[in-house]
Amino acid sequence: MTKGSVVNRCSFCNRSAEDVDTLVAGAGVYICDACVALSAEVIKNKPDGPKRTTPVWEGIDDDTLLAHLPRIDAIRHQVDDDLRCWVGEARRRGMSWDRVGEALGMRRQSAWERFS
Ligand SMILES: [Zn+2]
Repeated sequence: MTKGSVVNRCSFCNRSAEDVDTLVAGAGVYICDACVALSAEVIKNKPDGPKRTTPVWEGIDDDTLLAHLPRIDAIRHQVDDDLRCWVGEARRRGMSWDRVGEALGMRRQSAWERFS
């Protein structure tokens, strides 16, 4: 699953589309079949108690934390590439920079400067 020379990667395990059976696309993010299966297992075995939306920092050592940073940065770039692709399609369909900017909550000029 590629867009030009861009190889999409699972946003969770970072494996490329070529290295997985299925890569499901979301809004700028992707998840592979293995991560879907792992997620289903986590959901099935979720502990009781309050829901957590942030990492348990105390359980993450410094090396693990630092190793995670480039993965987050790679996902940021993938999301940005996906947004450019969608904006490009909007423009190809003849949508104005006004409309694109409005959809993104920015002015026409800002949308043009960012994506043209
Ligand atoms: Zn994955």
